Amino acid sequence: MRLVVVGNGMAGARLVSEVRARGKDVRITVFGAETRQPYNRVLLSNVLAGTSSPEQVRLLDPRWYADHNVTARLGVTVTTVDRDARTVVASDGTREPYDVLVLATGSEPVVPAIPGAERATAFRTLDDCDRIRDAARSARSAVVVGGGLLGVEAARGLAGLGIPVTLLHQARHLMERQLDAEAGLVLRETLAALRVEVRTGVTVSAVHEKGVELAMAPSSVVASSTAPSSAAVPSATASSASASSATLPFITETVDADLVVLACGVRPVVGLARDAGLEVDRGVVVDDEMRTDDPAIFAIGECAQHDGMVYGLVAPAWEQAAVVADLVTGADKGARYRGSRLVTRLKAASVELAAMGETHLTEDEAEIVRFSHRHKGTYRKLVIRDGRLVGAILLGETPAVGTLTQLYDRGGPLPGDRAGLLFPGPLFPGSTTGAVADSPVRMPDSAKVCQCNNVTKGEIRACWESGGRDVAAVAAATRATTGCGDCRDAVEGIVGWLCEQEVVSA
Ligand SMILES: Cc1cc2nc3c(=O)[nH]c(=O)nc-3n(C[C@H](O)[C@H](O)[C@H](O)COP(=O)(O)OP(=O)(O)OC[C@H]3O[C@@H](n4cnc5c(N)ncnc54)[C@H](O)[C@@H]3O)c2cc1C
Repeated sequence: MRLVVVGNGMAGARLVSEVRARGKDVRITVFGAETRQPYNRVLLSNVLAGTSSPEQVRLLDPRWYADHNVTARLGVTVTTVDRDARTVVASDGTREPYDVLVLATGSEPVVPAIPGAERATAFRTLDDCDRIRDAARSARSAVVVGGGLLGVEAARGLAGLGIPVTLLHQARHLMERQLDAEAGLVLRETLAALRVEVRTGVTVSAVHEKGVELAMAPSSVVASSTAPSSAAVPSATASSASASSATLPFITETVDADLVVLACGVRPVVGLARDAGLEVDRGVVVDDEMRTDDPAIFAIGECAQHDGMVYGLVAPAWEQAAVVADLVTGADKGARYRGSRLVTRLKAASVELAAMGETHLTEDEAEIVRFSHRHKGTYRKLVIRDGRLVGAILLGETPAVGTLTQLYDRGGPLPGDRAGLLFPGPLFPGSTTGAVADSPVRMPDSAKVCQCNNVTKGEIRACWESGGRDVAAVAAATRATTGCGDCRDAVEGIVGWLCEQEVVSA
């Protein structure tokens, strides 16, 4: 059987290794437009901040392909899918026949259609990271455009390199898809203390050689100048800015910067699928087998649209890769993907943030438990419907994150002690809810410990019982900790506890 994979990013590379792990009979060719070995894109913020090297975020060893009899065509883009001939055509003119084709083409950064946009650098690839770090060496100030997860991570990373950063965001508060307004404000203040000035409600209308031009509705200038973390009232001039559809006169202002990074969102790469006549909506439309409307073609990762959802996180991509590997090798013909529950965690030094589920429901729609302590940079919120956790935000110290992630994941009934959920441990000594699930002792075997790789405590225990006695061994056997790495402490805790149990019972 000839398997061709288009895209050697996090989904494509995982699929190839999952297929090979299930057997040797499949002839595999993978095309990757990037020239590099596949790497962990999730950890790019660490590379930008200088806390990880490119080698440390590599997903597969360079020898892996030869050792596993996989043909990797790195730096080669697939330009056409000829469905009648079941062949793909590549940018170097070669043709590769397939029995099964998997599209794993990911997403591309959205670049706003504004004058000078080509002067800015997007933040998606290792090459982008190199460009940004090169420019950062001589930059005296930087602007990051876009205050979503990536923009916040990029801004924090650049500030960590000692560069004053202005983070510009069009919406009224940061990370508005995951956070409510209060959490957005606490995050803004946390970033301000880390030398990131945040300006919200502003639209970038042009990128110049030495900075960006902003267009703002007059009301947003007032809002921005009265916001606590805003450094100064901009010296603004009235004009009618072309970048906006509003008819009111707009205020324009220039923000100086030697380096401009774009983090304005991503869009699925679907051109290949669309040109091949496959059904495409926002992403390539797939069923529960991750199959497109052509039974010989699958799509996984950020380019795929399943049940109306296009996911922008790695956990669904890796789960989908496992399903397709099961199906194409015949290892499990009943494998199906049923959708994912997402937990977003920020990876930025000195900023702890996790958000999950429906964080925007109102008091009329759900039971809301909230604690806000802006002075300390702390914000915690639970959103509960029908006695179950359907959303949460944890900003600042996040001791409850493991417990809440498990409760959200399982969707089971919550204990009545809501405060104990927000404040596990000593604050409420009598509480029986908070620390329970975070403790390896009380955590049920079904509790998911590694969100990215979908690894439960039971699987970690099984690995330990078959000889995996440290985190490295557990990672090698289960892949826990190899995604965003946030679960490392939890895995360490479980392994340590199992070792203690052994000593006690010996
Ligand atoms: C800075 C950053 C931080 C992130 N942080 C997190 C996080 O904390 N948690 C999380 O879960 N997710 C995070 N993500 C998102 C995560 O990286 C993506 O969800 C994941 O990479 C999706 O994998 P993919 O394979 O679908 O796409 P990609 O990893 O983008 O891979 C797609 C690959 O296909 C290649 N390609 C496209 N078209 C062709 C073609 N025609 N021929 C050959 N090759 C082609 C592309 O060049 C690319 O290499 C982050 C992303 C970025 C950029």
